[in-house]
Amino acid sequence: MNETNSKQGDPFHLDGLHVVVTGGSRGLGLAAAQAAAAAGARVTVVARSQAQVAEATERIGERAIGVVADVGDLRALDDLVSELSDAAPIDGIVHAAGIQLRKPAVEVEIEEFLRVQTVNLHAPYFFSAAVATRQIADGRPGSHVFIGSLNSSIGLPRVSPYVISKTGVVGMARAFSTEWSRHGIRANVVAPGYFATDMTQGLLANRSDHDRILSRIPMGELGEPLDVGHACVFLLADASRYVSGTLLNVDGGWLAS
Ligand code: NAP
Repeated sequence: MNETNSKQGDPFHLDGLHVVVTGGSRGLGLAAAQAAAAAGARVTVVARSQAQVAEATERIGERAIGVVADVGDLRALDDLVSELSDAAPIDGIVHAAGIQLRKPAVEVEIEEFLRVQTVNLHAPYFFSAAVATRQIADGRPGSHVFIGSLNSSIGLPRVSPYVISKTGVVGMARAFSTEWSRHGIRANVVAPGYFATDMTQGLLANRSDHDRILSRIPMGELGEPLDVGHACVFLLADASRYVSGTLLNVDGGWLAS
């Protein structure tokens, strides 16, 4: 992400960088936070459950701190970014906080629809904008990583608000990339296929859904959360210095098949 990193000879290193991971308390966000810390970053994990934030920082180790916050509280995001930046200027952000809603489109209530957009789409927008404002003012480069889904490229059934939000983050990364690249700020999407986390627990517990999903994955297995974590490290690091506004699928070949 900066010259210092390149000079260390390993373009995948995150030494000296402050990376914020929303939703970093469990699942794919925790894996991204663990991978970033292992690559040398100082990591701040943001999520709502105080107990899970504490457990995650304990697991990640001394490079991690935790902040309890609801990213869906959009009007509080600027203050949150100020608080996070006071600890150390933010170099990278991974927007892993996300929620799912499984029901047919015709049954979705307005409040349910809006909550999915708020957490999955509007929060990353205003969070990233608050971070970029400071990065631009400081003349500091940055990398913003959004977490998409298979639903960033296709529309699976019974998850329509989620499809809309995850398609939206692709446009968001493109738009931010176009506006911020000249400031040295990149924006990309990592799009996971299927991973066993709290979000997919109910789905994967159903034997027929589990078998149908597995039969559709060319690699024949679910992903490991660190597969997503390592993709995030690539996009945060100098290794991807010329990569911006793009979508990186981490899906065992699902979308190609
Ligand atoms: P998860 O296990 O349910 O974790 C979600 C994380 O987001 C938790 O840390 C949760 O903590 C946090 N979060 C949720 N709402 C929040 C809010 N309003 N404010 C702050 N933090 C919030 O889900 P996951 O499977 O790891 O998913 C992580 C991301 O990957 C999501 O964006 C998801 O859409 C995406 N994804 C997952 C899969 C998969 O197969 N698992 C596939 C494609 C994409 P709290 O609840 O304590 O706030």
